[in-house]
Amino acid sequence: MARIVMKFGGTSMAGTERIRRVARIVQRQQAAGHEVAVVVSAMAGETDRLVNFCREANTLYDPAEYDVVVASGEQVTSGLLALTLQALGCKARSWLGWQLPIHTSDAHAKARILEIDSAALIAAMQGGEIAVIPGFQGLSEHNRITTLGRGGSDTSAVAVAAALKADRCDIYTDVDGVYTTDPRIVAKARKLARVTYEEMLELASVGSKVLQTRSVSLAMKEGVRVQVLSSFIDDDAPPADSLPGTMIVSDAELEGQEMERQLITGIAADKNEAKVTLTRVPDQPGAVAAIFGPLAAAQINVDMIIQNIAKDKGETDVTFTVPSSDLARTQALLEAQKDTIGYFRMISDSHVAKISVVGVGMRSHAGVAATMFKALADRRINIQAISTSEIKVSVLIDEDETELAVRVLHTAYGLDGE
Ligand code: ASP
Ligand code: MG
Repeated sequence: MARIVMKFGGTSMAGTERIRRVARIVQRQQAAGHEVAVVVSAMAGETDRLVNFCREANTLYDPAEYDVVVASGEQVTSGLLALTLQALGCKARSWLGWQLPIHTSDAHAKARILEIDSAALIAAMQGGEIAVIPGFQGLSEHNRITTLGRGGSDTSAVAVAAALKADRCDIYTDVDGVYTTDPRIVAKARKLARVTYEEMLELASVGSKVLQTRSVSLAMKEGVRVQVLSSFIDDDAPPADSLPGTMIVSDAELEGQEMERQLITGIAADKNEAKVTLTRVPDQPGAVAAIFGPLAAAQINVDMIIQNIAKDKGETDVTFTVPSSDLARTQALLEAQKDTIGYFRMISDSHVAKISVVGVGMRSHAGVAATMFKALADRRINIQAISTSEIKVSVLIDEDETELAVRVLHTAYGLDGE
């Protein structure tokens, strides 16, 4: 017997029929002899609708009251799922965030989970009752309802799984797993049977945002085994133990299982970056600190950075990327610091994309970057910046060439399926 946390997203919970389908999947999992807790999202579109009401009521809304409003979507679906399970003859009840409680920080609208009291849950589950828990919500130390940030139900599910020391956290969604790249770009993308936490974090930016990134970091920290699978399965499908989703596991677990590990696991494309170049920055101690200090203070996340060696005049160009949404703020900050930094000109370009090849297999292999550069060169795709980590090589290219680059690299690393 295993203890399993099942999480269902908004599309799976959208309406009576779909909730009935979810209830049958949950019932089958329990009937297979497992203890089951279920974490649910609000119905698809519901949270957006609630956010809009808050905006209409008061453009400068109080985040604490916003949380009262937006947390309600999950309250509805958790109650409905408990009712539907009862209609199928199962013992089930809902446990709202404040009832367990799920203790969080008091950063409303983006709270962090601190601790979950799981004793009552465990007792109920051991008594054969299915525990239904609304995702996304918690309770602050000031006894107020909090929410975890958009997409936060994934994080709720992983946190509940960690608190319950569950054997697995199954995330049911509208895709059937994690792919080598976005299947909408590459028809030959393949579903991955396994991927490591680190790879998943790097691949999170691939078009289909399968899991909230925070939930993957949490799973890695807590060692929760996460499985991604589709909730749109046949009525007579077996329980998840034998369904072919994608398992997200630790490096160590993968090592034991795969003799011949793929060099590259997947390819991610991110169009939400912008490139900034400062020309003729003085090549002296403190110059780079003067650029990135103010950006850090403004919470702007700098990703790729390139600095050339100085030319004859003791000056150098510095290029880096920031999220497109932070470009305007970055420009304003650096404009204000122009004299302090002492650069000549600022040039920016948001029509760029970052393409990353990701894989723990590259740790022990040379030539991964060279393959990437050659494949792109063969298609005359120009590389504007490069960065690498232990399990990733990223290049910055013209945004118009994103799809071509992803396809070419998918083939170059032998990832194409049938
Ligand atoms: N309902 C929330 C949202 O849409 C949380 C979630 O579904 O993960 O952001
Ligand atoms: Mg989601």
